[in-house]
Amino acid sequence: MARLCIIREINSAHGKHIHGHTFRIEINFVDKLVNNMVGNIDLHEINPKIDEVIKKLDKTYIDDVIQTKATVENIASYIIKELKDQQNLYSVIVYEGKNQYVEVLKEEVE
Ligand SMILES: [Zn+2]
Repeated sequence: MARLCIIREINSAHGKHIHGHTFRIEINFVDKLVNNMVGNIDLHEINPKIDEVIKKLDKTYIDDVIQTKATVENIASYIIKELKDQQNLYSVIVYEGKNQYVEVLKEEVE
């Protein structure tokens, strides 16, 4: 198996005491290697879908967008729900700051 990771950043606000962050987001796909490539993942198809979700979150007050408390766990779960039709989606990682992140597996959200 191999993992393909697509990385994005958003600059958004969250929290009861509203404050901003750059949130690094990593979207992970896992599949078998086929001809030395990560399986059936079509980047031309997946990148626009990811950008659509990222656009909904970037430069916003995230709590309003995801309609719940915008913890990194909840942000990751929201992204998984938005992308759940994507085969081979494995997990979403959301960093808060540079030194910590949470990884939520797709199977946890389903
Ligand atoms: Zn924060």
